[in-house]
Amino acid sequence: MKIGTPKEIYEGEARVAMTPDSATQLQKLGYECAIESGAGAAAGFSDATYEAAGVEIVKTAAQLWKSADIIAKVRQPNETELKRLSKDKTLISFFNPGGNAEGLELAKSKGGNVIAMEMVPRISRAQKMDALSSMANIAGYRAVIEAGNNFGRFFTGQITAAGKVPPAKVLVVGAGVAGLAAIGTATSLGAITYAFDVRPEVAEQVESMGAEFVYLDFKEESQDGAASGGYASVSSPEFREAQLAKFRELAPEVDIVITTALIPNREAPELWTEDMVNSMKPGSVIVDLAAEKGGNCKLTVADEKIVTDNGVTIIGYTDFPSRMAAQASTLYATNIRHMMTDLTPEKDGKVAHNMEDDVIRGATVAFQGEITFPPPPPKVQ
Ligand code: NAD
Repeated sequence: MKIGTPKEIYEGEARVAMTPDSATQLQKLGYECAIESGAGAAAGFSDATYEAAGVEIVKTAAQLWKSADIIAKVRQPNETELKRLSKDKTLISFFNPGGNAEGLELAKSKGGNVIAMEMVPRISRAQKMDALSSMANIAGYRAVIEAGNNFGRFFTGQITAAGKVPPAKVLVVGAGVAGLAAIGTATSLGAITYAFDVRPEVAEQVESMGAEFVYLDFKEESQDGAASGGYASVSSPEFREAQLAKFRELAPEVDIVITTALIPNREAPELWTEDMVNSMKPGSVIVDLAAEKGGNCKLTVADEKIVTDNGVTIIGYTDFPSRMAAQASTLYATNIRHMMTDLTPEKDGKVAHNMEDDVIRGATVAFQGEITFPPPPPKVQ
């Protein structure tokens, strides 16, 4: 069978779902590989490097979709792309199945199979395919780099002949995958880093990365008690008030705030209010990684960088992984390659789409003319 990767058509998207290295691995599974001409260019992979790895270069997206049995891409496919699906073709991509009913219907009517990368269950066995985590890791890292690029001072403290420089103070709100990556990056640059999460169990991880966990003066036993299944849920009004009071206290002190707080299937909680922004020092920077879900900061504008009247820069970009396209493509293509390994148990270049396998079942949102989203709860954790 042939695996093909088209050029991403979402405006500004620089990632690509197949790299020359991943193609080499896919060929070892028995597949032929094809790529649309120029698909890797924005991520730094030329057609020549694919050709050298034995990948066929195809001139147009239409030809690519027609000739490939398996199509691997990054962004949620649009209508034109989905219309190119057909029975016996498998699409592997981010798909946003929870917010893409039309896409699911179209995939169903075309009879194609769709594996949605964001639906890979977050169990240990599937970590190698967990594209949400690999992209969140990049976003967390890049958020700090972006903050540094907009911050007029060092992260690390220095004593120089020209004067003493205090270290920057960084607050990371939300210590999931992206938050932990941001903490690691900020501490490695020498900043004094604080982090907060509603899930108190992450305190140890935060501290092991060299940051200080921010505890609330809150009467209940745990930091929240509202967490479930490793994910956060909505905080109680009392807890939220305690959290906002703590942030109000920290706002004039910190130089950089990276917010990453998300609650599955909801708008992002608003945690950094206008008065907090107003009380920050001029030159401070906020990077809001929750911008795509409405933002954690009241003033965030998605996909934009703004500077407030009191000189605070607020970055609401939603394309952090694409801003590190070479790294993001390498990790994403590896996630896809591992998915293909699980889909090809005989290493014979043929997909065995085993719907009894929890990981494959969990990620499959359309199969043989049926919508298979949402999946049943996994049998094994
Ligand atoms: P996420 O992107 O859904 O949310 C980011 C963080 O925001 C979470 O840590 C959440 O607790 C926090 N948050 C939500 N509301 C908040 C608030 N009001 N204030 C402060 N913080 C708030 O999270 P994620 O990065 O996807 O990780 C979620 C969980 O999944 C974590 O427990 C993580 O360790 C786990 N996980 C497991 C695997 C695996 O086992 N394979 C892989 C990845 C993540």
